[in-house]
Amino acid sequence: MNGTEVARTIREDVRPGVAAFAAAHGRSPGLHIVLVGDDPASHIYVRNKERAGTEAGLIVRVHRLPAEATVDQVLAQVQALNADPACDGILVQAPLPAGIGKHGTERVFDAIDPRKDVDGLHPHNVGLLVQGRAALKPCTPSGVIELLDRLGHPIAGKHAVVIGRSEIVGKPMALLLLQRDATVTICHSKTPDLKDTCRRADILVAAIGRPGFVTTDFVKPGAVVIDVGINRVDSRDAVVGFFGADHPRVADFDKKGSAVVGDVHPAVAQVASAMTPVPGGVGPLTIAMLLKNTLTAATARG
Ligand code: NAD
Repeated sequence: MNGTEVARTIREDVRPGVAAFAAAHGRSPGLHIVLVGDDPASHIYVRNKERAGTEAGLIVRVHRLPAEATVDQVLAQVQALNADPACDGILVQAPLPAGIGKHGTERVFDAIDPRKDVDGLHPHNVGLLVQGRAALKPCTPSGVIELLDRLGHPIAGKHAVVIGRSEIVGKPMALLLLQRDATVTICHSKTPDLKDTCRRADILVAAIGRPGFVTTDFVKPGAVVIDVGINRVDSRDAVVGFFGADHPRVADFDKKGSAVVGDVHPAVAQVASAMTPVPGGVGPLTIAMLLKNTLTAATARG
């Protein structure tokens, strides 16, 4: 399942809406990203979001704060963006530095104006999501739904199993699948009969954060497998174990010294009827849905 290609079509669908908004309002929709600290992966994600947003015609601004920023400083940044009429979407890049803490992180995310919450993580929007009437839905799981729809994989009546129960992926993924009339099972680190449960899935979504965790024995032949995981692997042996010694990904590892792999072992492709690759699967969809949410937020604010 080519997520890069589907993401491109979503971005193409967004572009005319952005142009129409700009023509009507004399300004382009504004996406503002708050980036706190030095996490290298976060910097790469933000750069990709900035590039994709700019290409789609959005005004994208990145507000950088140092790793030692206090909760109050991050809150002040969010409040300034809430008050800025040219800001339509606010994204606070997760994770915030350890010093901000769990409680501080919650305070920051709760401070975002729900109408500008393009990540769909504010409790107000999560409540609407539970009731099936959210306009701004979390980007990664809504990207997965778009992927299934656009590639013609039916959801209604299917048994979907989601591994992972995070606020950002697992829980909203399960809710969105339920809203589309799947029968949904949520698995997590304390699920005792994980493999047996996964083997009953018509649609299996892995959002765990463990390289290659889902092996062929988790998968019913013919299932659709969605790999949300993004894991950096520094061991050559692990990469060889994943792909085989002669695979181009091993040569790529030798150049870069690391590889990015999913939560699903590549051998699962032989059992599944369809499967998302990593990279090039769910990741690009997350960014495309962020752009879509920004346009939705801008249009709703008028
Ligand atoms: P998280 O750490 O918050 O949650 C992981 C979940 O996996 C937990 O709910 C936990 O219960 C479950 N889990 C952990 N070990 C398990 C085990 N042994 N058996 C069963 N369940 C287990 O992570 P997250 O934020 O949900 O992210 C999950 C993965 O998805 C990560 O690799 C992350 O990098 C990736 N991710 C990708 C995108 C994207 O755009 N593709 C977006 C967000 C997250």
